[in-house]
Amino acid sequence: MQASTPGQITIVTRRRLIESLGAAVFLAPAILAGTPEFIETEDNQEGPFYKAGAPKRGSLADNNMPGVPFELTGRIFSTKGVALPGAELDVWQADDSGAYDNSGFTLRGIVIADDNGVYKLRTILPKHYKTGPNTYRPAHLHFKLRAPGCKELTTQLYFKGDRYNDVDSSVRPSLILRPKEEMGKRLAANFQFVLKAV
Ligand code: FE
Repeated sequence: MQASTPGQITIVTRRRLIESLGAAVFLAPAILAGTPEFIETEDNQEGPFYKAGAPKRGSLADNNMPGVPFELTGRIFSTKGVALPGAELDVWQADDSGAYDNSGFTLRGIVIADDNGVYKLRTILPKHYKTGPNTYRPAHLHFKLRAPGCKELTTQLYFKGDRYNDVDSSVRPSLILRPKEEMGKRLAANFQFVLKAV
C-alpha cells in the first residue's frame, strides 16, 4: 500500500505533476482577470475639422440630403469587457461632395448608447476629399468616444474598397468597415468600439 517501490513512486510523482498542471489551468482565468479582456480600438488622428457642441441625435442626415444612406450600428465596451450604457459617440464627417460644414453642425452629432451600450448612427456615406495638389483622404467618419471610467478615444473609420485607402498613412486595417447593402438601397455596417478602462 505504501509507495515503496520505484515504480509506485513514479506514479505518485506523475499524479502530483498532473494535479499541479490541473491547478494551473484552473487558476488561469483568475490570473487573467486582472488583464484586459477586450482589445482597445485603435486611435487615429483628429484632423482639422472637429467642432465641440454638436447636437445629441441618432440621425445626422437631413431627409433631402444627397448621398447614399448609411447606417452604422454596434456596441461600445471598455477593455474590461463591460458594455458602456450612455457612452457618447461624437461624430463628424464630410458630405457627399467631400466637404465639411464648418459653420454649422450638418453631419455632426453626438449619438448616445442605450442601456446595453448599443448605438445606432444613421447618416450618409462620406466622400473622399483632396488635401493637396496630388493628395487625397479616403472616405472616412471621425469619432470621439467618451464614457465614465474610460479614456477618451479619438479615431476614424474607413471603407473597404476606397481607392485612396492605400495612399493614406492614417488608414489602419482594424478601422476599415465592410458595409453591406440592406433593403436594396441602404448600406449598413457594424463596429464594436472598445475604450481603455482607467
Ligand atoms: Fe476628415
